[in-house]
Amino acid sequence: MTTEPRGWVAELPAYRPGRRASTGAGSLASNEVGRTSPMAAAAVALASAALHRYPDPLASALRGRLATLHGTPEDRILVGAGTDELMSLLAAAYVAGGGSIVCADPGYWGHRHAASAVGAKVLRVPCRDHRHDLEAMARIPADIAFICNPHNPTGTVVGREALERFIRGRAARLVVVDEAYIDFADRPHELTALGLDDDVVVLRTMSKFFGLAALRVGYMVGPPNVVDVLNRLRTPFSVNHLAQVAAVAALDDVDHQAAVRAGLRANRAASTQLFEAAGFEVVDSQANFVLVLTDDETGLLDRLSSAGVRVRPGTDLGVPGSVRVTIPDDDGLRLIERAIAGGHAVARAEGGS
Ligand SMILES: *Cc1c(COP(=O)(O)O)cnc(C)c1O
Repeated sequence: MTTEPRGWVAELPAYRPGRRASTGAGSLASNEVGRTSPMAAAAVALASAALHRYPDPLASALRGRLATLHGTPEDRILVGAGTDELMSLLAAAYVAGGGSIVCADPGYWGHRHAASAVGAKVLRVPCRDHRHDLEAMARIPADIAFICNPHNPTGTVVGREALERFIRGRAARLVVVDEAYIDFADRPHELTALGLDDDVVVLRTMSKFFGLAALRVGYMVGPPNVVDVLNRLRTPFSVNHLAQVAAVAALDDVDHQAAVRAGLRANRAASTQLFEAAGFEVVDSQANFVLVLTDDETGLLDRLSSAGVRVRPGTDLGVPGSVRVTIPDDDGLRLIERAIAGGHAVARAEGGS
């Protein structure tokens, strides 16, 4: 007897991870922040004495904390092992076996993968000027519309009014807004879909701004009936105990959040200036990365790499002719400066000869 996977599974491409550099400062491929919350680390150390117990399957303490944070009832909140798990649950519940999603192209791998993994169709609407084409997306009657705000890989945003217009006018059944990068935006409250429409699902991760990528924890805020459906579908212990306590601590660690925010704003401006001064076009970003446009993607990757900096090739992200650079800390900024300044010297030497 042979066992064959379902046809759509046989065709799935494997995830291609971003490459790490030899230093933390130069590892700029995966949009991580540069530091761990001290309060989260302390909470994990304390909780590590109780590893013999199953985690709370309801993540009660974390959901309570999130309900307070967002001023919303707990029955509108579901915690997942990363938002990736929540995307998979949404896909399993609402698009498996012949359903469809609509999303932007380029867009986040996780949205497409969740749908493809359950045999759903993925309808991709090309971005215009690196932004979601909401008018075109609104016309597509998919089961789920994924909006990513700020967008990955471009860093561009959809304003609240445009989002509201999309939600009112869209042909898709369920709208899911992925706000993985919203805390890096200058004015998150002017962008968020939270409070806009109770039927929309909002995804928030603890991996990026809150710095818990290693622990795999994220959450959704959405209609109680969707939360209830996913809750019945999920495995009860997917969100481990260390992740739960670390998430509560990271939400409480306002000093760490302020430090991350301040460093990010300064270095997002500084990185943009560095690349622009070296003659590159940089897409205006509200996330913790910038998309740098270039005629010579391989050349720029090589220059960065020889200075010890690893970034994401645009080709891997569906944007050939670009690289996506996570906003670095000060050490990382100097590495980029060295790589780009090297390029300057070459340009001058050529110009002078
Ligand atoms: C990084 C990222 C996430 C986070 O996924 P987790 O599974 O929560 O780590 C979600 N959405 C987008 C668009 C991202 O870039």
